[in-house]
Amino acid sequence: MRAMRLVAEGRPLRAEAVDLPPVPEHAAIVKVGAAGVCHSDLHLISGAYDLGDGRKLSTTAGGAVLPLTPGHEIAGTIESLGPGAGASGLREGDEVVVYPWIGCGQCRKCAAGRENQCEGAQRFLGFMRDGGYAERVVVPDVRYLVPAKGLTSPQAAPLGCAGITALSSVRRCELRPSDLVFLIGAGGVGSIAIQLAKKTTNARVAVADVDDAKLEHASGLGADYVFNTVKVEAKDVVAQVKRANDGRGADAVIDYVGTPRTASLGFRLLGHEGRLVEVGLVGGGMTLPLPMLPLLGAEVLGNFTGTLSQLAEMVDLARRGVIVPVVSRSYPLEDANAVLEQLEHGGIRGRAVLIP
Ligand SMILES: [Zn+2]
Ligand SMILES: [Zn+2]
Repeated sequence: MRAMRLVAEGRPLRAEAVDLPPVPEHAAIVKVGAAGVCHSDLHLISGAYDLGDGRKLSTTAGGAVLPLTPGHEIAGTIESLGPGAGASGLREGDEVVVYPWIGCGQCRKCAAGRENQCEGAQRFLGFMRDGGYAERVVVPDVRYLVPAKGLTSPQAAPLGCAGITALSSVRRCELRPSDLVFLIGAGGVGSIAIQLAKKTTNARVAVADVDDAKLEHASGLGADYVFNTVKVEAKDVVAQVKRANDGRGADAVIDYVGTPRTASLGFRLLGHEGRLVEVGLVGGGMTLPLPMLPLLGAEVLGNFTGTLSQLAEMVDLARRGVIVPVVSRSYPLEDANAVLEQLEHGGIRGRAVLIP
């Protein structure tokens, strides 16, 4: 089958023919209908996360072996099931979205259903195992397939990362109605988070980005306040948020970018007992004005993707039309390198998907 593969860190992906193994006992082979292109793919390909102060964390240190097929936002149809997979109730031909954050299955986090925080040998599809930039993908157990009938593959694929990351990060804010949540970054994840915050929590939503078109889109999705942080200085953003929130800082901030500049803005925006949730992996370090943590009783937390049960919830929200999946455009699989380059330079609105 055709696949776009990472053969060396920092190099463009290469089109290759890959043989599929026989389907293991409880596994499934999914014919890929669409594969979302995510910022994390850029980190995987570059080979490192930037930890700040010149320090790097290898993205393949977790057990990736090259060559590797990236792609963790995968939707399609079940092509074949392993001999032990029949009891799942799923059938060949079913439309599914794949949960890619597959853990070791044995550690405490996996046992608690939080495989995205697996402490053992992670098997994340598109990172440690071959992913969806291919005609087919092997999913090691059918339980990682969520039925997605009623959604097209381009609509369903981004739910596996962008969708559950939005859901999980909004949940971690523990918003109450009339709270003000400030979202930094109106890209693929932020666009879903705006809708979730508005429709599932009734909070007021402020959004910052550096692109007016993305902010206009954010307003269309229900954002109450938008800020272009190229045009408005941080201190003015802070002042306007306070004005909008009865003199208080934001009740929660979610940073979908993850740079020193966005994280510092996020921290400055917090009110008493405010929560800053770091999600984006663009990278760098952060200096905190330490007395403000105790004085505000503030919290800084991190969120990495979401759980299998959250994927089922997201699929349900999308099928019922509560959340409109945000897909910008579909491209042929072989255009993967060009799409990744556009994403790196901020040229993708919503989510781009590859169609094998
Ligand atoms: Zn992702
Ligand atoms: Zn585990």
